[in-house]
This record gives sequence, C-alpha cells and structure tokens, in this order.
Amino acid sequence: MASKSKQPPHFLLIPLMAQGHLIPMADLAKLLAENGARVTLITTPQNTSRVNSLLSHPNRSQIQVLHLQFPPHQQSGVPQGCENCDSLPSLSLLPKFLSATSLLCRATEDLFQQLSPRPSCIVSDTTLPWTIKVAHKFNVPRLVFYSFSSLYLLSMANLRAAGVIDKIMSASESEVIVMPNLPDKVEVTKPQLIFTLDAEFMELTNEMNKADQASHGIILNSFDALEPNYLEELKKATGSEKLWCVGPVSLCNRDTADKVVRGGKAAIDEHECLKWLDRQQPGSVVYAALGSLCNVVAAQIIELGLALEALNRPFIWVIRQTEATKNQLEKWLSESGFEERTKVRGLVVRGWAPQVLILSHPAAGAFVTHCGWNSTIEGITTGVPMVAWPLFADQIFNQRLIVQLLKVGVSVGVERSVVWGGEEEVGVQVKMESIRDAIEKVMDGDGNKEMRRRLRDLAERAKAAMEEGGSSNLNLKLLIEDITQIKAQGPRKYPIIKLLVSSCHT
Ligand code: UDP
Repeated sequence: MASKSKQPPHFLLIPLMAQGHLIPMADLAKLLAENGARVTLITTPQNTSRVNSLLSHPNRSQIQVLHLQFPPHQQSGVPQGCENCDSLPSLSLLPKFLSATSLLCRATEDLFQQLSPRPSCIVSDTTLPWTIKVAHKFNVPRLVFYSFSSLYLLSMANLRAAGVIDKIMSASESEVIVMPNLPDKVEVTKPQLIFTLDAEFMELTNEMNKADQASHGIILNSFDALEPNYLEELKKATGSEKLWCVGPVSLCNRDTADKVVRGGKAAIDEHECLKWLDRQQPGSVVYAALGSLCNVVAAQIIELGLALEALNRPFIWVIRQTEATKNQLEKWLSESGFEERTKVRGLVVRGWAPQVLILSHPAAGAFVTHCGWNSTIEGITTGVPMVAWPLFADQIFNQRLIVQLLKVGVSVGVERSVVWGGEEEVGVQVKMESIRDAIEKVMDGDGNKEMRRRLRDLAERAKAAMEEGGSSNLNLKLLIEDITQIKAQGPRKYPIIKLLVSSCHT
C-alpha cells in the first residue's frame, strides 16, 4: 500500500451547474485522473446525466461524482426543479441562481469533512466565490477555473486598472472605445459592453474577484500557443506564475462514444448523425448552434433558418428548446414547411447536439457560433472556420479574437450585447441576408483558403499541446506536482493573485 505521503493528490472539483462550465470541468476531471490524480466532482442529482461520460472513463476508479441537493426553491427563489442554468425559464433569473449556489456552502463543508482521503485542493468555477470559504476553513488551496480567453480576462483586468468604466458608461452608443493597454488595437462600443457593465452583473463579479484574488492559482481551458501575447500580459497582470493552460480540454474525448455523451444525451441518434455526415462532401456542412443558454427571440432564430435555406448547402441546425421560444418555433417549423423543403440537405436538431462529434467530422465546413469560449476553442481545435455571432459577456471579446486577431472567422454583424432577460428589447439584430452572406464568405469568400490554413495550423498546435510532452500536458503535470508539494508540506498560507482578473468593476 502506498504510504500517505506517496498517495496522489486529491482534487475536489466544484463546477457551476451550466453546460459551458460543467462540461469543461468534467473534461478536466478526466485529464487529472489520466495524469495520476484522484478527483471528486460535486454536482446536484439532476446534473449527473450531464457528466455521465466520467462514469465510463478508463480511469473511473480515480474519479467519483458526489451529489449535493440543490437548495429548495422556498429558500433559493429558483423555480422548482431548475438545477442547471439552461433550465431557467428566463436568463433574468441567473443572478438568483448564482446566489442560490452559495446555499451549498455548508453542505460542501460537511462533504469535505467526510471525504477520505482528504482533498488536497479545491478547483472552483470562478462563478462560485463562496468556495473560498471552504478552502479557508480546511486550509487547502483554491484554484480558480476559467473557461475564458486570455483576451477577455486581460481586457477586464485592464478596464478595471485603467479606471475607465465611468467614461465608457457615459459614452454615446456609437462612440468607438479602444480597450486600454492590450497588445493589439481592440475596439468596442458601449452597446457591446452593456452586459459586462450591467450593475447586477458588476455586483456578482465583485464577489468573484475577491475570491479569485485570494486563490492559489488559475487554470485556463486554453493552450499556450493560442494567444501567447495575451497570456503573457495576463500573467503579468495577475502577478502569478501559477497560471496553467491545460486545454483544449475537449480533446480528452478521443472516441466517438466520449464525444456522443459529452454534456448529456443528444437529441439525435449518433449513428444517424454520423451516417448523414458521412454522406456529405468534406468541408461542405454548415453547423449552426448558439450554445446552451442562447437567449435570442424566435424571430431572430427564424432568420437563421431562412439563411440556411437560402444557402443551398448541407446544414445541421441546432434549435435550443426554451419555454420562451419553443412554441413559436415549432409553429413556424410546421406551418412554413421548412423541414420538408430542406430535408434532402438539412438536419434540424431540437435540443442537445453532439457538438464536438459534429465539428470533428471532415464534412464540417463552417460553424455559426455564439462565440461561447468552449465553442470557440472547439471550433479552433477542429479547424472549422466560424461565423461569429456573440450574444453577451465574454462572447463579444471572443468574436474579436476569432475575426480580428486569429482571423479564423467572419462577423455576422451583431451590434449589441443581449442583457439577461432583455431579449425582447434587442429583438432581431441580424437579417437573413447578412447571416447568409457571412456564411458564404466563410465557405467560399476571398481569403477563405488562408483562413483554413491558419485553422489547420492552430488545430495542429492544439493537438500537439495536449499530447504527451506538449505544453498543456506539461502544465497539467506541473499543476499536479504543485499540489503534491503543498500536500506534502502541510497547511500554510497561500499566495494571493495580485490583480482582479474576472471583472472590471470596483
Ligand atoms: N454543446 C453541445 N451541444 C449543444 C450545445 C452545446 O455539446 O447542443 C456544448 C458545446 O460543445 C460546449 C458547451 O456545450 O462545450 C457550451 O459552452 P460555450 O462556452 O460554448 O457556451 P454556453 O453554452 O456556455 O453559452
């Protein structure tokens, strides 16, 4: 039997219950286990099916998934039965949902106490600031996990440091604002930052900042070669050497089976989906999916459908089913005859699609994406050019990365950020013609070959980073080594991250 000091470190992973946070954290769990660590991931019962892939993982014996009951709705104010952000009837409830997670603090402490071997550290999603209390109580390091780009994190840190938030808030809607102190000239407008600078969001991010500042280090779902200048600057801004890029974590899903179950049961049979893709020409399929929290109005989603129809190319259109839009979209689909007209070349997925499986297929030719960080990095990793359609928050900056800095996609022409619950106000931002033209540009436009060449190069670098001896693989090993050493040294005070990175708000 291994002596106590030789036992591998035990990582306690606490993800936010939202697909864009839970999925990469589950991937991280697999990677840690593959590299010898023991892992416990905590979630609530309803979210278990979304991390099912962990239960069939070859390193299963080193991974456990434990449950905490989601706080009752009388206490949390979150509608009964909603245990994931994607099941909220409106995104206006997201702040309430985030606050409700803090009611899990006590139960997490109790669970921590019962775990054997004792966790060596906590890896917390940035949106769960209360986890710092658990880390302090048990005197273990907290590592903050960001599935965000370095460009976004640095932009937020710089906005805060430069003290320009009031100036931006008082700018006119059309005024072009240059983001301060970035390696490149990145321009935005107030309507694009309206979500990020929203008072309620500001309050939430202030809490997150405090917890992140008191953390031991940062884990990023990215790879060193993706945004090297921004990563370097981010390291300087945080004043922390302990910033580990360990991604793209989606690449840990090597087999079809892993890709199929990633994030939960798909609304389409994987064999059917693969057979359909196999029948298409390489690089010919337009894949359109706006993420797990997509909050655009039905009329806007219909514009996307019409663009796909107008293109005369094969497509997979993922329609997220929400209470707000489901009936209107179903009515339109059945009355307009859309599916009948497009069935020879189109596949409509109502609900969850096996995104990584689809993007990894040679037939994938363009990705209409809302620029969530996971989707962005999945598009890059699979080498599929993107049509960037950001909705809110970091997605605005990811779009800049895709279009302007990496030049691996084109913009669909979105001018405003959507505010949680304010979708109706924004209404239809992009008409069918603009969407169609943007997709056409990515598929066949000038510079399209260069774009694909750049993507091939980035995709190869991403894969190389994750291979044995690659940068992300080495970073992961260094991270595990760091925690192993701390475990061996016993309790002490942990370094503090110098600058606030997750928000621009004081
Ligand atoms: N995803 C998926 N199928 C879907 C919708 C989303 O597999 O139908 C996955 C996608 O691959 C990504 C995650 O869900 O890993 C979404 O995260 P992202 O950061 O892109 O956006 P969010 O949904 O958080 O806005």
